[in-house]
Amino acid sequence: MNAGFARRDLFAAGAAAAAAMILPRAEAEAAAPMRNDLPPAWHRFKWGDFEATVVSDGSLPLGKPQDSFVGPGADRITGMLTDEFLDPNAATLEQNVLVLNTGRQLLLFDTGMGESMGADSKMFGPTTGRLLANLRAAGIQPEQIDMVVATHAHCDHVWGLVDASGQRVFPNAQVAINEADVRFWTDDSNKRGPAFMNVFIEGAKKNLNAYRDRFVMVRNEQEVVPGVTAIFAPGHTVGHTCYAITSAGRTMLNSGDLAHHQVLLLRRPLMEFSFDTDPKLSAQTRARMLDRLATDRHAVLSYHFPWPGLGHVRKEGDGYGWVATPMNVTSLG
Ligand SMILES: [Zn+2]
Repeated sequence: MNAGFARRDLFAAGAAAAAAMILPRAEAEAAAPMRNDLPPAWHRFKWGDFEATVVSDGSLPLGKPQDSFVGPGADRITGMLTDEFLDPNAATLEQNVLVLNTGRQLLLFDTGMGESMGADSKMFGPTTGRLLANLRAAGIQPEQIDMVVATHAHCDHVWGLVDASGQRVFPNAQVAINEADVRFWTDDSNKRGPAFMNVFIEGAKKNLNAYRDRFVMVRNEQEVVPGVTAIFAPGHTVGHTCYAITSAGRTMLNSGDLAHHQVLLLRRPLMEFSFDTDPKLSAQTRARMLDRLATDRHAVLSYHFPWPGLGHVRKEGDGYGWVATPMNVTSLG
């Protein structure tokens, strides 16, 4: 008898024993119904003297990976995903929105897809747009937000700034963002190239224009508020910006869309993403910053990585690997 047969016999014996232990149920005793709903999705931890809460806007399905991930190494996508036990035919991103309480201000990093653009707000399907419900579940009200800190002006990052009627969702908030991104995504003359440009610009105009009198234009390597420093990381958009969050000597990079996939774009940083404004520059920025993150051993909070997006980047071969931080539920340490 070989090991395979032995294992099968073991499972069979276990199943028989389990079946013998099932007790008969009374006729009236119904099985518990499946809940068929999602739990609130928020995760809280301390970062130095700050309190961080990651809140989900829901998952964002991209569909066939080869439609979004292109360029160098794209011929290896199926194998790379299969090796990690991921669906090779469908890539799904998360939307991990960081809320940071510095003790003085409450900051919200990006807003999710929101509902401001009607049917277009559901262009990635019905799973997005959960930010406000999850924010409230985490005990945070939209009117408490002092500043929305945007990484860039794409739909899944700023379309939650206003509601369907164009009213500000965060009535007391300033909006910190890179000026080049505001210019680019509110300029009708950029409605050219890929089909999504038209709706991306319409959505950015509706959402950003509502906060025109509340903009804080971020500058590279300068603090937005004490402990939060803008790090210019262009390519995905012209003004794409990461934010370094430092308290009590610990630094975490809120990396925005520096990398959209924890396997494809870390193993192959020079692979390209079809929504990039400048894919080559985006890839160079990603390669440079991943090297820095791996060297400095800073923590990363990634918007699109598996929930809640907190971990570290390490050098692996000629690329990088993602090491997710365990989600303790009994500690804020
Ligand atoms: Zn994004």
